[in-house]
Amino acid sequence: MIPFNKPALIGKELKYIRAAVDSGKLSGDGVFSSKCHQFFEEEYHISKALLTTSCTDALEMASILLDIQSGDEVIAPSYTFVSSVNPFVLRGAKIVFADSTKLHPNIDVDTIEELITDKTKAIVVVHYAGIACDMAKVIKIAEKHGLYIIEDAAQAIDSYYNGLALGTIGDMGTFSFHETKNIIAGEGGLLAINNQEFIDRSEIIREKGTNRSAFFRGEVDKYGWVDIGSSFLPSELVSAYLWAQLENLEKIQTKRKMLWDLYFTGLNDLSLEGYFELPQIPSFATNNAHMFYVICKNAKERTSLKKHLLQKEILAVSHYISLHKSEFYKSRHDGRELPFADKYTDSLLRLPLFYDLSVNDIQKIIECVREFYL
Ligand SMILES: *Cc1c(COP(=O)(O)O)cnc(C)c1O
Repeated sequence: MIPFNKPALIGKELKYIRAAVDSGKLSGDGVFSSKCHQFFEEEYHISKALLTTSCTDALEMASILLDIQSGDEVIAPSYTFVSSVNPFVLRGAKIVFADSTKLHPNIDVDTIEELITDKTKAIVVVHYAGIACDMAKVIKIAEKHGLYIIEDAAQAIDSYYNGLALGTIGDMGTFSFHETKNIIAGEGGLLAINNQEFIDRSEIIREKGTNRSAFFRGEVDKYGWVDIGSSFLPSELVSAYLWAQLENLEKIQTKRKMLWDLYFTGLNDLSLEGYFELPQIPSFATNNAHMFYVICKNAKERTSLKKHLLQKEILAVSHYISLHKSEFYKSRHDGRELPFADKYTDSLLRLPLFYDLSVNDIQKIIECVREFYL
């Protein structure tokens, strides 16, 4: 069976975990966390990078930092993971869902402005499959209406919008190191703070509402409870695994891009003949090879293709169910139809893509997809 995903073990993960154990410090913000923070700050020019236990937690920090209150509105795409919006709902926000674009699951930025009211506080963009949203337009709208921008860059490590690293463009950006992402730590995440106004408070919120970070830097004599917060920092075991992956970022990305290109070359003729759609990369965006998918004609065809691949021992999987139609949110949604979000809900099928996938496996998968259509 070719699995959909297999967590990567690249090099020194176990060695660094051992070193963390031997160092006698296992809680957060030790040597390995600090290496990871520095990597993100230097490599991607982030003002303040803070590791978290997940991307979900990084988004919860963002929600607290924006001071989201009951009644505030947050605009977000419907075709995304629950964590893009749940952190704002937790603090009382109403989510106003936007549709995807016709050619790509990303938020249709041309529909954002009409959703703004005097209660709107922030726009959440999600760079689906690591492909950038049209950020210039989002920035223009946010500036005009005085809104914050949060980038859910969970899938978007090492990907760019017109030369700017994703996750560094909005007021805050969030990354995931869940085992299904390009760079992993089992579970893990990172909050990138790009707007200086949030830096001081971010350390406090991450340390259970205390000024413990300032205490460790010797800036205060004692530390205590100064704000709301929670326990958002990962242990050194997680950071040690992550650091071994970050050291190999280029190697991982090169391999994934090679595999992605094989898929594209092997299936593009069928897409040009109209059998299905393949991922589209706008000219302002790079491809970090997070995901390879085909968009089938409809739900029925996707089910058949998925079944066909399963019979050949290949696990292909669908993705999100539009959040405006989710069991939890459908009664809270304002009733607008979001046809492109529905299209991707029904028709998008993801093919296996992970570091250890072999060229032979990819060739087998391509052959099986071709066999289904031809
Ligand atoms: C994976 C993912 C998340 C959640 O990441 P965790 O680290 O598992 O919390 C959030 N948003 C998107 C778009 C994702 O792909």
